[in-house]
Amino acid sequence: MSFQKTALVTGASRGIGRGIAIELGRIGCRVAINYAGNAAAAAEALGFVRAAGGDGFVVQGDVAVSADRERLVAQALEAFGRLDLLVNNAGVAPTVRADLLEAGEESFDRLFAINLKGPFFLSQLVAKQMLGQERDAEGFRGRIVNITSISAYTASINRGDYCMVKAGLAMMTKLFAERLANDGINVYEIRPGVIATGMTGGVKEKYDKLILHDERGITPIRRWGKPEDIGRAVRAIMEDRFPFSTGAVFDVDGGFHLHRL
Ligand code: NAP
Repeated sequence: MSFQKTALVTGASRGIGRGIAIELGRIGCRVAINYAGNAAAAAEALGFVRAAGGDGFVVQGDVAVSADRERLVAQALEAFGRLDLLVNNAGVAPTVRADLLEAGEESFDRLFAINLKGPFFLSQLVAKQMLGQERDAEGFRGRIVNITSISAYTASINRGDYCMVKAGLAMMTKLFAERLANDGINVYEIRPGVIATGMTGGVKEKYDKLILHDERGITPIRRWGKPEDIGRAVRAIMEDRFPFSTGAVFDVDGGFHLHRL
């Protein structure tokens, strides 16, 4: 299948974003692979996208910076002519985990800028672009996917800033979904559980224990998530499997969200 749809995936050089880009490559998409500083990883990701059957290009840009966001969108449009999908995936964890009563403003401002302000204003830019696009064969002008986290509703008191910005991103999904529902732009939230990437590399032992070794693991499906798990969910959205859903939350978390007794 080659439908040559186009996507901008932020933070696609590594981890979950790379997994998303590769899955989009499998259905013949052209992907703008955004990264912040790791050009070599981004080039490698593009190689994987091509090997999967897609194409695209790499584009440096800090989603927290207004001029960079404008440049990302301009370059994607110059290369592709239109954007069928924006995936707000780029995100960072706090550099140092600090108790709620000690947490500082610097970390708060950094996480707010990258994980929430960036996606908000990038979505605004892209949505305006999409509103001017012709509808595709399925009636869509575009789609937007926000990668949040189980932290959007799970209180971790040693990284409250991360939880708060992810909760904000969850609300942002609802806002854009409502605003764009009648314009052929569906908006979705994907909530990953614990996924094996660079972000969780430093806490691997802790989560190995919680997921694999406890008598009753924190996830009913007892394994780490893979970037590909998230990629497959985004791919299903790009394949228009959910045309009558907007503002929907997809828990891709091994069942972490289930209340169990
Ligand atoms: P990761 O492996 O650390 O990769 C982060 C990616 O974001 C890299 O491509 C990085 O680019 C890019 N990035 C960082 N800051 C950026 C900025 N200011 N502007 C543009 N790109 C930036 O992280 P991950 O685990 O894949 O996480 C991806 C998303 O999933 C994040 O939003 C995270 O909060 C969310 N998430 C992760 C997990 C998990 O368990 N891993 C769980 C739930 C949600 P460079 O390569 O250039 O540095």
